[in-house]
Amino acid sequence: MPYALTHAAIFDGTNTDELRLDQTVLIDGETITSIQDASLPIPEGYEIHDLTGKFLLPGLINLHAHLFGTGKPSKTLAGESGSQKRMVHFANSRLGRPVIDGMVKKHVQTALHAGVTTIRSSGDFAYSDVRTRDKIRAGKLLGPRLLVPGPAITCVGGHGDGTFAVTSNDPKELAGYVDRNASHKVDCIKICVTGGVMDAKVKGEPGEVKMTPEQTKAVCGRAHELGYHVASHTESSKGIKVALENGVDTIEHGSFLDEELVELFQKTGAAFIVTTSPALPLAKLPTSITMLNDLCLYNSEVVIDGMIAGAKKAMENGIPVGLGTDESCPLVTPYDMWREVAYFAKFYGVSNSYALHTATLGNAKIIGLDAETGSVEEGKCADLIVVDENPLENLEALRQMRHVMVRGHWLETPAVEKNAQIEEWLDSLMK
Ligand SMILES: [Zn+2]
Repeated sequence: MPYALTHAAIFDGTNTDELRLDQTVLIDGETITSIQDASLPIPEGYEIHDLTGKFLLPGLINLHAHLFGTGKPSKTLAGESGSQKRMVHFANSRLGRPVIDGMVKKHVQTALHAGVTTIRSSGDFAYSDVRTRDKIRAGKLLGPRLLVPGPAITCVGGHGDGTFAVTSNDPKELAGYVDRNASHKVDCIKICVTGGVMDAKVKGEPGEVKMTPEQTKAVCGRAHELGYHVASHTESSKGIKVALENGVDTIEHGSFLDEELVELFQKTGAAFIVTTSPALPLAKLPTSITMLNDLCLYNSEVVIDGMIAGAKKAMENGIPVGLGTDESCPLVTPYDMWREVAYFAKFYGVSNSYALHTATLGNAKIIGLDAETGSVEEGKCADLIVVDENPLENLEALRQMRHVMVRGHWLETPAVEKNAQIEEWLDSLMK
């Protein structure tokens, strides 16, 4: 059924702070076929939705998410390694696979109901991400467009070793993992050049460099030969240097940038992806909630400071900055992409409209999907959200979707079950 969404105020996703008032958007199949003044007649045969007083925007794009988790803080995610190992073993078993697939399915559907129409994921168990993407592509499951890497790749003892990453110290074997992921038909490659907050051993040094330049180059080289872009978990300046000098395309999380790193970004065309959603609560909420020890707390503060300072410097120098939630981390739920957008406006000194542009067309450009999605334009895929309040005035408007459309499929009443306790904790960060 073709749709006519009429009398909408449109934020089109381009870098503008103007709304286009009282418009009709015509959608045929998956595609936006026309955007016209609402005073013009709607052709026959269209299902009409009157959006008077409502705001129509491109669907949100999340550039960094792990699809298996709910975001509830737990000992497993806080690094208690015995239970992590048991979880991985279970996920890879014949019995575990349908369980993990069921979790991933639930979380991507939740994300869709919360307005996320595209996710680039960042490492999951046992190719559950690939299977879920394929179900969505085949029309067996209504979900966001997924770009998936399969398991992440890193060195022995690297970030994700024992959980969502496969490991080796041999560059050839690491490159072989790229081929293995390719045989499962992944969309991109995820590596972990540095460690993370939870695996840091030294105060003041989160993101210790783990992968060598040779290892990084071997993986990126093979990935590029096969036409993949490479995202790297990178939480220190030293790690960014290793990553960018050896072929990484997107720096995930990021850190402080000096002039040399700015030049490296400019030379390589790489993007800087911030994930404020896990970093901010870990650094700012009481440890009774986050369950962090002193070392992790200290390093969390280093990470959030570096992420914000680095991204600001990147934007000043014309380096693309994108947004991802790092869903599945402690306190990062599948439905809180809106918070990532709101944090970006609040803590990075950008306008609401620029934050929205970044979460839509900006993010689409970084992963090469801007011809397909990310904006409300004729010829683009109909990935749309409708909210009751003006998000240019207040990004809290995105907290609750009125309607969602993904690839031309209309969700009349999106519904998300939220964890009231997590809502309360996270809301305290916005005050
Ligand atoms: Zn991640």
